[in-house]
Amino acid sequence: MSNWVDACVKDIVWYSDTLFSLIVNADVEPFKAGQFTKLSMMQGDKRIARAYSYVNAPSSADLEFYLINVQDGLLSQQLAKLQPGDTVMIERRASGFFTLDEVPQSEQLWMLSTGTAIGPFLSMLEQGEVWQQFEQVILVHGVRLNTDLSYQNSIAALLQKYSGLKYVPVVSREHPDMGLHGRITDHIKAQSLFSHVDLTPTPDTAQFMICGNPNMVKDTSALLIEQGYSRNRRKEPGNITVEQYW
Ligand SMILES: Cc1cc2nc3c(=O)[nH]c(=O)nc-3n(C[C@H](O)[C@H](O)[C@H](O)COP(=O)(O)OP(=O)(O)OC[C@H]3O[C@@H](n4cnc5c(N)ncnc54)[C@H](O)[C@@H]3O)c2cc1C
Repeated sequence: MSNWVDACVKDIVWYSDTLFSLIVNADVEPFKAGQFTKLSMMQGDKRIARAYSYVNAPSSADLEFYLINVQDGLLSQQLAKLQPGDTVMIERRASGFFTLDEVPQSEQLWMLSTGTAIGPFLSMLEQGEVWQQFEQVILVHGVRLNTDLSYQNSIAALLQKYSGLKYVPVVSREHPDMGLHGRITDHIKAQSLFSHVDLTPTPDTAQFMICGNPNMVKDTSALLIEQGYSRNRRKEPGNITVEQYW
């Protein structure tokens, strides 16, 4: 059986000029929170396919993806034009190891994301199993502008539901309406990310999942390694688990 199936667009929600959620319904196989699938459209006689992380909890019938309309992007520009009722191809089977079962149990889980890469963390938080592994979860979202802080209603509901959850927006290009000003890496270097939420992570008490912009993933991992943390490997558990979006 082909791994590609039709997905029917249920809704497309715009948060800013470039950021949107695509909500589809399709007969896909079960997936784990944190995994991604591929979306695909034809361009002439060529199929263009790209990876997108699930934002919805695995139990939800609506499949949701959080996207940026990349300037001159081959597929995202086409996806941004979709309307309810249109179809797009979706890979039936999800992929990826950016999942909680790959992360050792600890006290704190730091979810560090940039831009659209907050998606897999929202899926994990909506699913709720994260609380079987961690007492405190800190959702950190690095963006350029305050208007890039999407999913505020979902995050507010999660904060209301889980007292162990903290949320730290980090806005780089303007004064933040909430959270911190600057870049995630600068606030790790200065330890101000940690003092902002009154926590002192150590290699014995903290796990870091890092997702998004490859420079942020690389630089943050290097900084944490300097501070005594290590990459998490199946044969040698550490503290740092990563996923790069390009
Ligand atoms: C595991 C995985 C999961 C991903 N999940 C998502 C997701 O949930 N949402 C999402 O929008 N993208 C996600 N991506 C990126 C996505 O696969 C595409 O690369 C993106 O949509 C651009 O495709 P395109 O054909 O429009 O652009 P292309 O013509 O392929 O241009 C690629 C360029 O676009 C830029 N770019 C790609 N992704 C992003 C991004 N997320 N934010 C800012 N700039 C970007 C980079 O400069 C990159 O070099 C994911 C990638 C991987 C590997």
